[in-house]
Amino acid sequence: MALRTESGVEMLERYLQQQHELLPADFYILRRIKSTFDRLAPPYEPPESGSLEAYEQQICDCMRCPLGKSRTHFVFGAGHPDADLFFVGEAPGYQEDMQGEPFVGRAGQLLDDILKAIHLQREEVYIANVLKCRPPENRDPRPEEIQECEPYLIRQIRLVAPKVIIALGRVAGNTLLRQSSPLRELRGKTWNYEDTDLIVTYHPAALLRNDRLKRPTWEDFQKIQEKYLT
Ligand code: URA
Repeated sequence: MALRTESGVEMLERYLQQQHELLPADFYILRRIKSTFDRLAPPYEPPESGSLEAYEQQICDCMRCPLGKSRTHFVFGAGHPDADLFFVGEAPGYQEDMQGEPFVGRAGQLLDDILKAIHLQREEVYIANVLKCRPPENRDPRPEEIQECEPYLIRQIRLVAPKVIIALGRVAGNTLLRQSSPLRELRGKTWNYEDTDLIVTYHPAALLRNDRLKRPTWEDFQKIQEKYLT
């Protein structure tokens, strides 16, 4: 496990515990403060070590949110452990929940086609989702589910250390960039995510619903090909 320094809030918690002054309500408030601090300024962590497989084994029985109870499979992610391109989707759908693999339904087939168009196989990239478990009826992920699950994605990204992260759709883009912006404001720019380039484009499921999004998506992928694959 990675070593990390104690934050000011943790020192305060330890001090109060030593003084036997912590009531249940204090605990609750401290936890809330701590998670806000961690989100704003994550504690220093040395570079990640270990394998993705070991990490999957460590977390695959997760029950940190109620989706753990309703899932068929925990969908960790799949692909090349040293991929240059790291794709982030929203959450597993029906097929992904059944098979335990990300992007294996219709949206996944379209993603495969897009990858082929830039001369890549899915085995050469890494693919994961913001949520590892399927939300019922494919509803949008809830903020508390994202909060519990996102640390897994962050660790996966650090382990793969890609050249570029490609967020597929608004949920992935906003989660990684800590924003709540419409997709049009997230697309067309190269963002920085922990010193790695991050690009936001349309989710393949959106292309299945609206043909007109195919051309701008293709333009995004051509730029990705020129900048990161030549
Ligand atoms: N949509 C996603 O966002 N992720 C998947 O894995 C499948 C569909």
